[in-house]
Amino acid sequence: MTDIVGVEVRNLTKTFSPPNGGLLRVFENLSLVFDQGSITCIVGPSGCGKSTLLNIIGGLIPPDDGDVRFTIPGFDDTHAIGYMFQNDRLLPWRNTLQNATLGLEVVHGKKSIFRDEAKSLLETFGLSEFEQAWPSELSEGMKQRVAFARTLLVHPKLLLLDEPFSSVDYEIRLQLENVLLQRCLEENTTVIMVTHDLEEAIVLGKHIFVLSPRPARLVDSLVIEEPLDQREALQMRRSREFGFYLGKLAAQVLKS
Ligand code: ADP
Ligand code: MG
Repeated sequence: MTDIVGVEVRNLTKTFSPPNGGLLRVFENLSLVFDQGSITCIVGPSGCGKSTLLNIIGGLIPPDDGDVRFTIPGFDDTHAIGYMFQNDRLLPWRNTLQNATLGLEVVHGKKSIFRDEAKSLLETFGLSEFEQAWPSELSEGMKQRVAFARTLLVHPKLLLLDEPFSSVDYEIRLQLENVLLQRCLEENTTVIMVTHDLEEAIVLGKHIFVLSPRPARLVDSLVIEEPLDQREALQMRRSREFGFYLGKLAAQVLKS
């Protein structure tokens, strides 16, 4: 299948002015192309601008210069972007189920029909017992699962994920990765995902972009040939090619 552009970031420039003075240049003419209907993973050193990039793509902060172009079908729907932030941002006064359905309520109003899907996803994520629990009663990994459920339940066309599984146990992480692969396949979702975990980038990403330290530029990119419909989180890790890709990506990251 030929690659179709989903999101294009063109000549992005962004500078922050920290309170203690000086200028912090995060991007200088950064251009990137993300494919439609597939997962692109972004890796890069801490502080290079990964979260800032997602914030700009998600429309939360404006760039100083440059623009972001979306060519995803159906993108003019109002709630086309689902953004899972680096920090879970659960509302402390809502329990697990209420947090998971927050996005649904914003989009569709408070309708009970959506609760079934929410409950079923929470069950898949091993959270049924904790539906009534407050965020303060959950571990970091559990909170990430609730935030992931909240984001998926809206069925966005573009999914922005900022280190979504960083605190999740290995076994559950495999499960969440499979849910994401399945979702992308079934709904042709375009996914841009930041991760520190190189294994995860290989298992999920069709393309992996390696960014340099600030100001971030694209140092290298890797294409993983395995088609989406043949990916399964554990099988991918056990495949013969996995070690080859991991070595290659690690070398790219080290030279960045
Ligand atoms: P990453 O996600 O790659 O770790 P970030 O995008 O969070 O990096 O941040 C990139 C740089 O921009 C960091 O040096 C960070 O301190 C700085 N930064 C991010 N947001 C702001 C802001 N709102 N004001 C000032 N500096 C910021
Ligand atoms: Mg970040």
